[in-house]
Parts: sequence; structure tokens; C-alpha cells
Amino acid sequence: MTVPTINLNSGHAIPQLGFGVFKVPADEAEKAVTSALEVGYRHIDTAAIYGNEEGVGAAIAKSGIPRDELFVTTKLWNDRQAGEEPHAAIRESLEKLGLEYVDLYLTHWPTPEKDTYVNAWQKLLEIRDQGLSRSVGVSNHLPEHLDRLVEETGVVPAVDQIELHPALQQRDVLEWAGKNGMHIESWGPLGQGKYPLFEESSVADAASAHGVTPAQVVIRWHLQRGFIVFPKSTHRERMEQNFDVFGFELPADEVAAIDALDKGDGSGRVGTHPLEFN
Ligand code: NAD
Repeated sequence: MTVPTINLNSGHAIPQLGFGVFKVPADEAEKAVTSALEVGYRHIDTAAIYGNEEGVGAAIAKSGIPRDELFVTTKLWNDRQAGEEPHAAIRESLEKLGLEYVDLYLTHWPTPEKDTYVNAWQKLLEIRDQGLSRSVGVSNHLPEHLDRLVEETGVVPAVDQIELHPALQQRDVLEWAGKNGMHIESWGPLGQGKYPLFEESSVADAASAHGVTPAQVVIRWHLQRGFIVFPKSTHRERMEQNFDVFGFELPADEVAAIDALDKGDGSGRVGTHPLEFN
């Protein structure tokens, strides 16, 4: 199965569907990523704070898959944004991953009270220039943070990885992305199992119509909306199911019905608001 790619503003391509490893314990990460690579995933999303970069790296090493066929993302944790710390942090992540470079390195949260996210972004640009990450971007940044990054450096992040699913569509960030040539990565694409997306009639009805599961409908919605998505599961059959989303297409009316699930007021949020994470 060929996963479509999206061209980032860095000139590099990213597989639009990947595998996320948030909350996959360190001792299970190698097994989970090995299974994901066997299923066919070639894009893995981890972070220093997940504590499982070594397991991800071990699975990659054992897979024998050529490095240039893989896309690996990791993230700079919040307590390492200041001074030269991002340089030490990427080196530690690369060491744990057993890689010479990552494909994408992100500032994990803006943590605006500390006011170090612009410094972090400047250091990420240096890290990119040193060849330690092919592309760089951010996560959980709101338009006010993105504006400031561009004002101070003139460089638009390749992606902003934000909580995004049908009940929380973050239209202000999407608008900023559209105007500035930045791509959106959806974290918590299935609502992390905390928001009852699968019971919404627009999702359940589309699933019956296409003979697929509600999870497959929601993943398909992300793909058709142009988002980059990496659902997480440690169960092999769900990994397979979440990857098997290229044999059907949601017609425009089904996409529109799922679009209409957006709460608009933020009440669909299942994670932390970026202004509250410090
Ligand atoms: P998700 O929306 O992918 O939900 C995962 C949960 O959904 C699973 O634990 C399981 O309970 C359920 N699920 C998965 N597949 C299913 C299926 N086929 N049928 C039924 N239920 C299914 O949430 P997530 O893991 O938080 O998000 C995906 C990835 O996004 C993470 O693994 C991580 O890589 C990234 N992420 C980033 C941030 C950030 O701050 N940048 C925060 C959270 C997650």
C-alpha cells in the first residue's frame, strides 16, 4: 500500500499517515514499532518526553529498512528551550534513536510563560542547518506564537502538530497554516479514545456505508482534509486497520457532516490548552 506524501516547505516529503508512540512504555516501544513497520508504516512520531526513543531506535535498527525510506519525528521537551540546550537535547535524542539525523524536529509546546519558544525556534533552525534534522517545525503553537516566530526569524515552521479531530478543528490555526504554507499534523486524531467520536451518527453512518470501522472513517477524514496523521495503537489488528484506509473515499457530503462535529468553542478538547501548559 502506498501512503501519499505531502511536500513540506523545507523541500522534503512526509508520508501523510504514520504511527504515533505517545504513552507507549519504553519496554513496549520496540515491539510496537517493529509491528508497525511490518504492517507498512514508514513514519514514526515520538518525543524525548515519551521516554521511548531507544525502543523506537532499536526497532528501526532491527528492521533493516533503509534510512531514506523512513520518516522519524522527535520533539524538544519544554525544559530545554533556553540557551544552547536544544543543541544538547537533539544530540541526546539522536543517540537514543541510533540515528544520524531525524526527519522532523519540533518544539513540543510554546510554554509562553517561560518566553523561550522563540529561542527554541532559532536553535531548531541551527539544528536544521547542521543537518541533524531535515525539517523543523513546532507543536501546540497558536497563531500568536507562530506570528512571533515569523516576525523574529522570517521562517515559517514546516508543520504545527496540534490536537485536532472532528470535535476540535482549531480553525484559526488552520487558517494561519493555509496563508503561510505550513502543514498541519493532527495529534489525538481519534480523540485519544476520550471523546466519543465513534458514536457520532455522521461517523457511524459513514462506517456502515463503506463497510469500515468508525476509526477508519475518522482517519480517512483527516487524510481527505489534508492533515498529516499518526494514530496510536499497541494492538496489531488496530495498527493494520488504521493503515488500511486507502480502499475507500468519503464523498463530500460525508466529509461535511463530520466537519459539522466541530464544537467551535474548544469544548471538544481532550488534551491541555497550549496557554495552560508551562
Ligand atoms: P489517538 O487519537 O491516536 O488515540 C489513541 C487511542 O485511540 C488508542 O490508545 C486506542 O485507545 C484508540 N484507538 C486506536 N486505534 C483504534 C481503532 N482502530 N479502533 C478503536 N480505537 C482505537 O491519540 P494519541 O496517541 O494521543 O495521538 C496520536 C499521536 O499523536 C501520539 O501517539 C503522539 O505521537 C502524538 N501526540 C502528540 C502530542 C503533542 O503534544 N505534540 C500530544 C499527544 C499525542
